[in-house]
Amino acid sequence: MILPILLYGIEVWAPSGKFCFEKWEKTSIEQNHTSLLKQVLGLNRSTKNNMVRAEFGRLPLLYNGHLAVWSYLKYAKKKNEQTLVKKAFQLEMQQNCSAFGSADKAYLNLIKEKIKPSEDPNMVSKKRVKIIFKENYTSNWIINLRNSPVASAYATHKNNYEFEGLTHVKIKKHRNALAKLRLSDHDLQIQTGRHSRPKTPRHERKCLTCTEYIEDEAHFLLECKDDEKHKLDFIDTIECTYPEITKISGKYLKYKFLMKMNNPEALRSLAFLVNFCFKNRNSKTR
Ligand SMILES: [Zn+2]
Repeated sequence: MILPILLYGIEVWAPSGKFCFEKWEKTSIEQNHTSLLKQVLGLNRSTKNNMVRAEFGRLPLLYNGHLAVWSYLKYAKKKNEQTLVKKAFQLEMQQNCSAFGSADKAYLNLIKEKIKPSEDPNMVSKKRVKIIFKENYTSNWIINLRNSPVASAYATHKNNYEFEGLTHVKIKKHRNALAKLRLSDHDLQIQTGRHSRPKTPRHERKCLTCTEYIEDEAHFLLECKDDEKHKLDFIDTIECTYPEITKISGKYLKYKFLMKMNNPEALRSLAFLVNFCFKNRNSKTR
């Protein structure tokens, strides 16, 4: 409902063809988009946009914009020579520095990179163009994720650009707690140490309860002595659905496995546990 309003007439005002997602991030359109997604999961405004969108499997709206421009170009190219639309389009394409001309060139170059040399880039279907445009974004997205210290935990378990099953968790506070853990939007020492000045070295961001371990997401959920009984009960519960979890050794591999689960019941148990642990920790530290 909101999308057509935000992108109204984008074929006219944004046909540059440049895939500059970095600049787009700062536009009010994209900020509206990500802010809405953050509200749905109760996330902080500062949570990284590229992680939030990935949770929903949503691309920046610039993707929709490029697709709209590409569709318009295809439509205009096919129009009868005698129509006003075609004549106006041809006049625009003849201009020096034509925005539609640049867009057309950029799209054709991108499409050519992904198809066989024998194929005509002008004849590629919209379905394939959607995939090509999506890959163009996600190939950089994964690199950015791996290079971002804030996303270090997220990058270990998020390697596909698909919608995550958080909506299976019906209780809002449980769902939000799980989202906050997944997207590192919390105040575990691994994050607060990053923001302190001077910055606390990673190896010094220790858990306040079990002082020998770094307090990161995996420690908090699986290793910390706090709420130990609840954590053991939780593992027992999900063993029924995922018996292979007993064979996984090491907290990081286990954490990755838990974050990749998609069984609704298991996700609800996980979200319950995460919310319980955060609540308990907050009552001690605040
Ligand atoms: Zn601990």
